[in-house]
Amino acid sequence: MFVYCDKCKWTQDDFWSEEGDCYNPFNYVAQYQKYVFERPRDDMDWRIADEKTGDVKTVSRLEYVATLFESMAKTIRKQKYIKYEDYLEQNPEGLCPECDNPLTLD
Ligand SMILES: [Zn+2]
Repeated sequence: MFVYCDKCKWTQDDFWSEEGDCYNPFNYVAQYQKYVFERPRDDMDWRIADEKTGDVKTVSRLEYVATLFESMAKTIRKQKYIKYEDYLEQNPEGLCPECDNPLTLD
């Protein structure tokens, strides 16, 4: 579940959870571990998309991992409410932190 603003388009990543296979940045990054280790070493087809342009480029395995962590770090820095319970406690009115418009939960 995540929260966003229809008016100014403010949003953040999904709320985090500690339970099982639920979403949080640790589980998200860990899902790539098996993928990175199990691909053949000579497989040069590590592709990433530019965040702004969407252009896809081929990179090394190390660059692929570095980009994954950098992307996750950017997402984490934008997170205002870590858990759904934090959102309810810190923003009981459910108003956008940027424009005070009522937020939408999805
Ligand atoms: Zn807003």
